[in-house]
Order: sequence, then structure tokens, then C-alpha cells
Amino acid sequence: MKLYRRNFLKTGLAVASGIALRPFKALSNTNLQATEITKPIVLSTWRFGIEANNDAWGILKQNGSALDAVEKGVQRVEADPEERSVGYGGRPDRDGNVTLDACIMDEKANIGSVACLQHIKHPISVARAVMEKSPHVMLVGEGALQFAMRQGFPKEDLLTKASEKEWREWLKTSEYKPVVNIENHDTIGMIALDAHGNLSGACTTSGMAYKMQGRVGDSPIIGAGLYVDNEVGAAVATGHGEEIIRVVGSHLVVEQMRHGKSPQDACEAAVQLILKKFKIRQQDYSATQIGFIALNKAGEFGAYCLQKGFNFAVLDEKKGNRLIDADYLIK
Ligand code: ASP
Repeated sequence: MKLYRRNFLKTGLAVASGIALRPFKALSNTNLQATEITKPIVLSTWRFGIEANNDAWGILKQNGSALDAVEKGVQRVEADPEERSVGYGGRPDRDGNVTLDACIMDEKANIGSVACLQHIKHPISVARAVMEKSPHVMLVGEGALQFAMRQGFPKEDLLTKASEKEWREWLKTSEYKPVVNIENHDTIGMIALDAHGNLSGACTTSGMAYKMQGRVGDSPIIGAGLYVDNEVGAAVATGHGEEIIRVVGSHLVVEQMRHGKSPQDACEAAVQLILKKFKIRQQDYSATQIGFIALNKAGEFGAYCLQKGFNFAVLDEKKGNRLIDADYLIK
């Protein structure tokens, strides 16, 4: 990981040094003209980000929009029954319901979100429909399902045999103990900068496994799970949603970039604040994971997490698609 950071500091930051030298200045497409920009580029959380990036790249390399790319990219993970923390095959709540959360944001600050949505395989596309075809920005529960069905999304059973078996096992003890980095949660969050210099992001999850019925985490909450400002950058979060909401994490990362921080430093600042809040509340953080990834208008990126074990995937023309271990705070 150290290696990544060193390389990143040498290459990423050096290339985009115009940004570091221009603190407190929002980056528009115009004032970036003199800076070397890495675009298109796409980043996503966790190891399943590699395949999701490939799908997004199919759109980005044809000069498609970041918005289309992030929707397409995360759909891959939503549809995969083997991925037990997102979409179809996701682990249910403690009553056996698979409830999904997702949100999407584009370069014009258009936003759409669904929470606690059942029976729809692609909550990210319902979030996009909320954004584009409803007068609202967020629909939840039964209302979100009714809206999705009216939009033509098929109603499906999302609880796979494997997930149901695991849940029944869990019911024997009903012990709710999220374990850091073990597959009981993990969200696909994706942020991209397209060939036109526009940023968008998407975030989708089945949330914490065996959560209380009705629990909603950070992932569908614009500002917490995802934030995009086309003049500055984009950020997306994964990990313990309650803690991310507490500091409005993704918005915090973007605001740090607005005030001159690199994406790396901005992610570090957000994770540090989360740790500080734990300490203020004297709450145990030993079994909690939080991770952020961030991207700015120059195609510079960064990532940081609370504990060892978070990785993310990055794809650009020059360096291809790679999985990188994020640096972490608690060593
Ligand atoms: N952030 C998600 C939630 O709290 C879970 C995760 O990313 O691991 O619902």
C-alpha cells in the first residue's frame, strides 16, 4: 500500500500539480485547459469494481457520458447472484427481506435515489428514473416499488437459495455482529470522468446483512453515500453507513477538494473526522470499516479507509484496469 501511495504521489500529484498550486479555486472545464487531464477514467469500490469498470469503460471509450457509464457499470454487480452485498442475491434483513438502496448523481447536480426497495434487480436504474421521470429525488419502500413497476421494471424474487440458507443459519443465533471487511456488507460505488470532462457517480447496495427491517444506510443518501460537483470532483463511500451519515461523508470529501485538498488528502480528512467522532462518543470502532474513493476534474484520484482491507478498482487508458489496496488510518 505504501508503494501505491508513493507512486501515486509521484505520478498522480505531479501530473496534476496545477491543482495543488491553486488552492481554494474551483476547477471548471475552462481553467483546467492548461492542466494535463486523465480522462476518461473510472473508479469503483472493492474487487467487484474491476468487472464493473470494464462495463463502464465500454461506454466511456466511445465518448459516452459518465452518467450512462456509472449506471451500466454498477448494474453488473447488482445482477450477479454471487455478490451477496448488492442487488440480486444480496443478504436480506433479519426478517428475510432483500431491501436495496441506491442513488445516482450527474454533472448538473441532478439526483435520484431509492431506499428500502424490494423485488427490483436494478435499483440504480430506478434511482435514475426517479431523477429523470419523477418530480422528486428520493422514493422509499412500497412507493418506490410501485413507481418502479409503473416504469416497467419487472418484479422479481431477489432472495437466492444461497442467501436464504445463510440467513436461516444466522437466525439460529441471531447475533448481529458486523465483522470488518468480511462479506456482510460492501457497496459498489462508482465515480467517473468522461471524455467531455463531466463527472457522475452511482452507488448501490443491499446494505448491512441482517439489518433491522426498514434500516437505511448512507448509500442512497446524496451527500453521505455519494456526491458529485462537476466543478470540483466526486466521492463515494462504503462501510458502516451510520458513521458515514454522521459526517455526511461524500459531501465532506468533495468540499475538502473544493478547498484545495487532493482527492487523497480529502479522503483522509473524512476518515479522520469519523474516527474523531467515535472517540468523542467513546464508542468501540474495532469492528468498523469505512472507505472513501474520490476523483477530481483533472482525473486525479485517491482513497482511504479506517482499517486495513479496503480495495478499489481504477481504469484509464494509460494504465488499464487495476485493483489497489487503499491506505488506512488505524495501523
Ligand atoms: N454503506 C453500506 C451501508 O451502510 C454498506 C457497505 O458499504 O458496506 O448500507
